[in-house]
Amino acid sequence: MADIIQLLPDHVANQIAAGEVVQRPASVVKELLENAIDAGASTIKLIVKDAGKTLIQVIDDGKGMSVTDARLSFERHATSKIRTADDLFQLHTKGFRGEALASIAAIAHVELKTKQEQDDVGTTIVIEGSNVASQEVVVTPKGTSISVKNLFFNIPARRNFLKSNTVELRHVIDEFHRVALAHPNISFVLFNNGSESFNLPISNYRQRIVNIFGNKTNEKLVPVEENTEVLKISGFVGKPEFAKKTRGEQYFFVNNRFIKSAYLNHAIASAFDGLLKSGTHPSYFLNLEVDPQTIDINIHPTKTEIKFDDEHTLYALLRSAVKHSLGQFNIAPVLDFERNPNLDTPYDYKSSETRTPKVEVDSSFNPFQEETKSRATTTYKKEPAASWENLYVGLESKGTKTHQDFSEVHFESEESTPSIFDDEKQIEQANTTYQLHNKYIVSTIKSGMLVIDQHRAHQRILYEELLKNMTIKEAVSQQLLFPLQLHFSTQEITIVKQLKDDLENTGFVFSNFNDESLEITGVPISVPESEVSIILEQLISDVENEVPDSNFSATDLLAKSMSKSLAIKTGQSLQKDEQEHLVNKLFACKEPNISPTNRSTFITLSVDELDKKFL
Ligand code: ADP
Ligand code: MG
Repeated sequence: MADIIQLLPDHVANQIAAGEVVQRPASVVKELLENAIDAGASTIKLIVKDAGKTLIQVIDDGKGMSVTDARLSFERHATSKIRTADDLFQLHTKGFRGEALASIAAIAHVELKTKQEQDDVGTTIVIEGSNVASQEVVVTPKGTSISVKNLFFNIPARRNFLKSNTVELRHVIDEFHRVALAHPNISFVLFNNGSESFNLPISNYRQRIVNIFGNKTNEKLVPVEENTEVLKISGFVGKPEFAKKTRGEQYFFVNNRFIKSAYLNHAIASAFDGLLKSGTHPSYFLNLEVDPQTIDINIHPTKTEIKFDDEHTLYALLRSAVKHSLGQFNIAPVLDFERNPNLDTPYDYKSSETRTPKVEVDSSFNPFQEETKSRATTTYKKEPAASWENLYVGLESKGTKTHQDFSEVHFESEESTPSIFDDEKQIEQANTTYQLHNKYIVSTIKSGMLVIDQHRAHQRILYEELLKNMTIKEAVSQQLLFPLQLHFSTQEITIVKQLKDDLENTGFVFSNFNDESLEITGVPISVPESEVSIILEQLISDVENEVPDSNFSATDLLAKSMSKSLAIKTGQSLQKDEQEHLVNKLFACKEPNISPTNRSTFITLSVDELDKKFL
């Protein structure tokens, strides 16, 4: 048989390499920003259009390239950063693989302009899908500008695989933050669709963090500093009371390179042991400086993972440094910013200076509780459309008899009764509901028994009601006595803005939006004021983390997110009538059997199945 193996042509090899290097616009952003930093730039400008799908441009004032280098920079394995294998263990640059530009040029339209300081004129090169379309002399300032247009133009499958602009832009901004946080000594600007989103002047580290995450961040930061022979640690952790429900603001940099490390993250979490409300995560911005010889960053093409020679020592040092800072902070507060005296007790979650005076809402108040004494004959009538709030706010007392007298409970279901109950004629004796482990509601049906997950069931109920409200725009709102001022970062505000209309349709009333804060004067009747910020935070994080498909809908996402925040939690004990109301409401839903996130809300166990178990 004839020989069949061939060497792949360069442009094919480049496209394959691009698969590893470039997953999405944000990967291009990372590579270009890193190249600009390696070129010694002091000012770097990033311009994106349509979340980078149409254009990503990085302009730097670094050292530029000669004519020959400009051409060579697009070759695979062409790099000025290492020469021998030994150099791999002495890395002081971001790049070293010499693959990024070749890969990017294989899958986009790229235009490079570059000039070195000593030259009068520079070079411009246009490359489209690995083919050099032109190379000319150009008048351009010192430094380099690279524009990458129409990413994945020749790989439709990859292009279609990209997420919505919101999601892709989120990734781009994350990448921008990571790079900007690692280099406060470089000024960065980000333009998105023609408007300036970030302008970060050269500053110290604290100032850089504040410039990115908003002024309110300043008072949340506790400095961490530790110098040992093996390791230097510097940076900040967030005070425990500002811990977030999401892992958003967690940054580790090793020798100015952003890395992810579950192991080191654990070290920090353990330093915060006992100081955090459950389910919250501390913020941190920590730089570790180690000898490049003791780390290996070559294990991942996009280099966010890293191997340390001596992880255990790092873990211990990091944990103790953070613990030390938190302890010190507790007794001797940092004085380099304006303090609110309430903040001097950092482990007291009650105080939050981000709010204007307001009517305190007791978050532990359970509106269900006092209702139960007076209830008995519970006849559920078809309820008006916008009454979903009732379930959360409390059950109205419709009878006068005593609690025990449930034999008279009579269920009248709403419009659509789902199929499994059509022939069962619903829950035959719903007065037999029973709550198991404050988590499941058990009830009987003709064929056997029914076990409902209370949290998921309530999510389903709220979800449908919220969707209905948003569509018919008839939500009831409660006016706040004092407007509620909430602070967010600029991107977070942008997300809330996008959802403003829908939020208003659920009952929120906004009076003021600016770059970093918003003011709320009304909230949906079902939402306790004390939970507004949690709900919005959850919502923002859901939008950020959503991996929407083509039929992504903001309305749907909002309904999902709010139903998750508002639903009765696992662990909450429910009175008999609350259990019944929940069951009844659930089976009045259009899709009672699944939660908004497609999980089962209940299971049934037939007498037959039970019989089998007793065989
Ligand atoms: P790497 O960064 O791994 O070396 P790249 O493909 O990203 O590989 O870049 C190839 C080479 O092109 C770099 O080694 C550098 O010499 C040159 N280069 C790329 N971007 C710039 C820039 N913005 N300024 C100056 N030189 C650059
Ligand atoms: Mg590079």
